[in-house]
Amino acid sequence: MNKKTIIKRADEKDALKEAASLLKSGGLVVIPTETVYGLGANALDARAVENIFKAKGRPSDNPLIVHISDISELNNLVKNITNTAKIAMDKFWPGPLTLVMEKSDIIPNIITAGLDTVAIRMPDNMVARQIIKLAGLPIAAPSANSSGKPSPTNIEHVIEDLDSKVDMIIDGGKTIVGVESTVLDVTGNIPMILRPGDVTREDLLEVFTQVEEDISIMKDDKDIIPKSPGQKYKHYSPKANMRIITGDLGNIVVRINQLEKIYREKGLKVGILATAETMDKYKEENLLILGARKNPKEIAAKLFFLLRKFDKMNVDIILAEGIEEIGIGRAIMNRMKKAAGFDIEKV
Ligand code: AMP
Ligand code: MG
Repeated sequence: MNKKTIIKRADEKDALKEAASLLKSGGLVVIPTETVYGLGANALDARAVENIFKAKGRPSDNPLIVHISDISELNNLVKNITNTAKIAMDKFWPGPLTLVMEKSDIIPNIITAGLDTVAIRMPDNMVARQIIKLAGLPIAAPSANSSGKPSPTNIEHVIEDLDSKVDMIIDGGKTIVGVESTVLDVTGNIPMILRPGDVTREDLLEVFTQVEEDISIMKDDKDIIPKSPGQKYKHYSPKANMRIITGDLGNIVVRINQLEKIYREKGLKVGILATAETMDKYKEENLLILGARKNPKEIAAKLFFLLRKFDKMNVDIILAEGIEEIGIGRAIMNRMKKAAGFDIEKV
């Protein structure tokens, strides 16, 4: 694939119209959303969707999320809107929550990797919703990165991975949330989190009495088959090896400094991923700061950006501080653990 990729800012004249018309004619368009940038195509056109998999190098058994601009567009796409689904939509749409529902027959099998359910989201980002509305189509859109790499939170990262592989990229600035949507199975009476995100378990418990969580989210156990097929793949990986140190914050600092010295003396270039609370406890060289622990949303927004920054710094190993696994901290740690290939040390 070698295309001439058109790049336009979302506020340029006719940019969104052009994006919509390319989508209507079967093209690939990168669109900003509030979570990360998405690589969009007409969800009802199996050939267009096939090109998403090609451009990303995505395994064909990893299903895609379908995006809509209004709840009225949902009826055609699903068979059964459960009460669980209605409650979730009412409270959290538009927003960073994807709902897994029973699929209707117009959804091509390539979208769902042959499953009888489909994942649907109505994004909060106005540019995304306007493009979907102008196209008049449901838009399949996984994150706009090469498969395996950290998801793109700005247009530079999209260009690194997808320039000349897509028809158009719409620049909507930095994404706000920075990690992908929460994926929630709402086919039954009790909702189940298949991927943690900005809509947290705590948020969901405001409207549901019970919320389950797929056990594969936080564990690396080859015997567990994840309910969300994409979860089994290597994800979000920087080029360097990464190790997470969790536990008591004082101990974390001591251990990271110890490991830094050991690796440095072996001649390796060591990156440290720390937080505002601990930043002055490390050598400044190759030190990147996620943000303040008391503001985990900031950490989520910066995580993928900093993982890509380490790539550019050409570090050999990243030593990362673990984050408390509550609220959005669960999404942060889910992405960090996958990025680290589950190399975690508790101190
Ligand atoms: P991405 O598009 O890269 O944000 O990944 C989409 C995520 O949604 C993957 O982890 C998929 O496995 C998950 N997903 C998509 N469709 C379904 C479905 N029908 N059932 C369960 N998980 C799904
Ligand atoms: Mg992705």
